[in-house]
Amino acid sequence: MADIRVTCLNCMDGRVQLPVHHWILEHRKVDFIDVITEAGMDGVLADANHDISEILYSIEISVKMNKSIGLLVVGHYDCRGNPNDDKTHHEHIIKAIERVKYHWKTHSVTGLWVNSNWQVEEIKTIE
Ligand SMILES: [Zn+2]
Repeated sequence: MADIRVTCLNCMDGRVQLPVHHWILEHRKVDFIDVITEAGMDGVLADANHDISEILYSIEISVKMNKSIGLLVVGHYDCRGNPNDDKTHHEHIIKAIERVKYHWKTHSVTGLWVNSNWQVEEIKTIE
């Protein structure tokens, strides 16, 4: 059975899970998506003072054991875990993907934004 994966670092908000899942299956040739969640994931990763060692440990399992081929970070509209305007979220997403890329230089890192219509937009990919 084919087992090509990516790793998605998403908010825990239930509203964004299916839109993001569908977007990834449409835009990446993968069989499965490993999902790591935190409340306000983009803000957590963008905050240099926030200890992300548990997130990095989960990424390590996903990459080394599950052979994930790429990483994605998601921010979304009306996030209660990271209550900020869209512009701030976009800044957080960029900072977040740069921080993840710093730890996983071998993997592409994509930033996604889920807008007020619950549509997924690609912000940037660092190859
Ligand atoms: Zn959220």
